[in-house]
Amino acid sequence: MSTIQLSGVQKGFGATSVLSGVDLTIEQGEFCVFIGPSGCGKSTLLRIIAGLEDPSDGDIRIGGVRVNDLEPAKRDVAMVFQSYALYPHMTVKQNLEFGLKHQKLPAAEIDKRVAAAAESLHLTPLLDRKPGALSGGQRQRVAIGRAIVRKPKVFLFDEPLSNLDAALRVKTRVEIAKLHRELNSTSMIYVTHDQVEAMTLADKIVLLRPLAGQEHLVSIAQVGSPLELYHHPANRFVAGFIGSPS
Ligand code: ADP
Ligand code: MG
Repeated sequence: MSTIQLSGVQKGFGATSVLSGVDLTIEQGEFCVFIGPSGCGKSTLLRIIAGLEDPSDGDIRIGGVRVNDLEPAKRDVAMVFQSYALYPHMTVKQNLEFGLKHQKLPAAEIDKRVAAAAESLHLTPLLDRKPGALSGGQRQRVAIGRAIVRKPKVFLFDEPLSNLDAALRVKTRVEIAKLHRELNSTSMIYVTHDQVEAMTLADKIVLLRPLAGQEHLVSIAQVGSPLELYHHPANRFVAGFIGSPS
């Protein structure tokens, strides 16, 4: 069963068209990476899937259900941003618990989920610390942990590693790949402008292009596996983008 289906999705801000003709299916459990030049609409498309932004036109379905009119909390998605947005006055444990307490889950279930997430993200020794006493990489792991404990059907990442230094980026990327294997029926959509991240993480790459006022264009330049895009670019834009060092 396919988890996410976008059909005819368009988005404009005022007179400016940012996304056009987006038709895309992301299968359950798939790791899908959105890539493309800055300003081409990657974050906007992710926010539309999350329900943080309304499309100007088109349908969004998750698990076969049209979710256009569902608020973000009802969509069974969790989003991780590049800035961590942890609660500074709460411990790591309290940060992980917060959303679940809000959902009024039983205490035993909350404890179980928090312990499992902490274990898998190597946060167990840090549970009593506050965010101010964590490194950037540790904070980002807490942000990912907060998403994991909700057990969403879909994980959305918007350039989650771009604030980390190069060594930590590689390490955290490996952890995200491991997480995807562990949560094997959870779909992930991951936005990046880093081609190495895209090539190493993706089952499927969606390459978006800027419309730049060309109304006849559709936003998606190509969808395919990393090797397909690399060896069989569908057009000059794809060849130019994939071929150029980013
Ligand atoms: P990307 O994530 O690929 O860099 P974005 O989705 O953030 O691109 O933005 C795509 C385009 O939409 C940009 O030109 C941006 O300025 C514009 N945009 C994004 N959000 C808004 C908004 N709320 N109001 C007006 N323009 C916006
Ligand atoms: Mg963006």
